[in-house]
Amino acid sequence: MTHLYDTAIVGAGAAGLMTAIQCARKGIDVLLLDGREKIGAKILMSGGTRCNVTNQQVDERDFAGDRPIAIRNVLRAYPADKAVAFFNEIGVDLISEEGGKYFPSTHSARTVLDALLAECKKGGVDLVTGRKITRVFSDGECFTLWAGEEEFTAKTAVLATGGLSYPTTGSDGSGYPVAEHFGHTLVPTVPALTPLKTEDAIWKKLSGVALPVRLTLRTGGKRIIQFEEPLLFTHFGFSGPAALNISRYWLRHAAQKNTEIIASFLPESSEEILALEIEEARKETPQASVRNFMAQKTPKRIAAFLLDLAEIPADRNFADLRREERHALMTHFFYCMLPVSDVMGYGKAEATAGGVRLAEIDTATMESKLEQGLFFAGEMLDADGHIGGFNFQWAWSSGTVAAGGIAKRLKLQV
Ligand SMILES: Cc1cc2nc3c(=O)[nH]c(=O)nc-3n(C[C@H](O)[C@H](O)[C@H](O)COP(=O)(O)OP(=O)(O)OC[C@H]3O[C@@H](n4cnc5c(N)ncnc54)[C@H](O)[C@@H]3O)c2cc1C
Repeated sequence: MTHLYDTAIVGAGAAGLMTAIQCARKGIDVLLLDGREKIGAKILMSGGTRCNVTNQQVDERDFAGDRPIAIRNVLRAYPADKAVAFFNEIGVDLISEEGGKYFPSTHSARTVLDALLAECKKGGVDLVTGRKITRVFSDGECFTLWAGEEEFTAKTAVLATGGLSYPTTGSDGSGYPVAEHFGHTLVPTVPALTPLKTEDAIWKKLSGVALPVRLTLRTGGKRIIQFEEPLLFTHFGFSGPAALNISRYWLRHAAQKNTEIIASFLPESSEEILALEIEEARKETPQASVRNFMAQKTPKRIAAFLLDLAEIPADRNFADLRREERHALMTHFFYCMLPVSDVMGYGKAEATAGGVRLAEIDTATMESKLEQGLFFAGEMLDADGHIGGFNFQWAWSSGTVAAGGIAKRLKLQV
């Protein structure tokens, strides 16, 4: 006879670990299973190995997904300040940085993973690694979970198997068919927070340059979303928070006609301000170089590149700047189309957009509306956050809500 656990959690990533800890704190007998021998790869690589644990300000607008209200319910049930208090309590001192991002004061993601694992141990969680779950079955009373021929049993089950990004970390999408077996449906998945590629060789010359920009995604002239953040040029295209954030929206709309990403390289200025400045320069310093002037506003390589694109000669001064050249300058600095051809895909994506439909989940408990006793947490659900600690907050919030739901379900079963 196998031991009958109160709950079996599939996936020991951020969401699974949080669910396990919160369950254990409620006196629930927990089995935590993971397909990988070594767990926590994604936590360790997160935030440039510093782990951006959460953010000072988190709400549903920091996420994409078909059900913003469902996301809001879960975040409000366990907001960021509770997560900060939780980490302090388990010995992880957090510091906040620009953009409200919280990191461990040790600047090491290892601190976060070690603290979560220590807390699991303290709570008596049975962590069993190297067991990839391929089938889960419910007879209405309890769940049987199979890893090959080996089986585990529990009164409730949690699917916290993540999405499809960085599949080498163990998140290979193998949890989705398990959810589908119970009748769940998926919002089609696409990579999120992934760099953008270009086929246009001239843009690759800017590799290594980083600057603040405003990126706007437009489809058929309609604005879909806008991000004002740093952009990094690379040897394959575009990266940095602005490019990563916009990637999932671009992918969702790429098939539609006239989908374009427009960059403003002077996000803190405006056409009106620049027009006035140029007019002033024309009057007061007519012999001054346009190129040097623009190089004071944005990195030199960007200024030269955009002026070349606008076909403004390198030696152009303000006195000789023609009307159409001024127009071309404005267009290239404020409305420059980024020639995006594709994205880097799941292999380089920090998250997965789409996943198990939140409409099929009771967000007060994270219990399936289709199968009593089955719970969900984390990135396998249709919620993907922007850069800034939002994806981890979703893991902490949904895991904690799931633990509350499991406690409630077990009480009802007694
Ligand atoms: C490079 C990178 C940097 C990131 N940086 C940040 C950051 O700084 N801040 C932030 O908020 N977010 C960040 N993210 C996103 C964040 O890491 C994820 O959103 C979060 O880890 C998702 O947690 P999860 O537990 O839902 O899924 P995962 O972390 O993907 O965990 C899922 C677990 O399930 C296991 N599993 C999968 N299938 C099975 C199965 N069939 N049987 C058993 N086990 C299975 C996997 O082995 C894995 O351990 C980053 C992601 C990446 C890739």
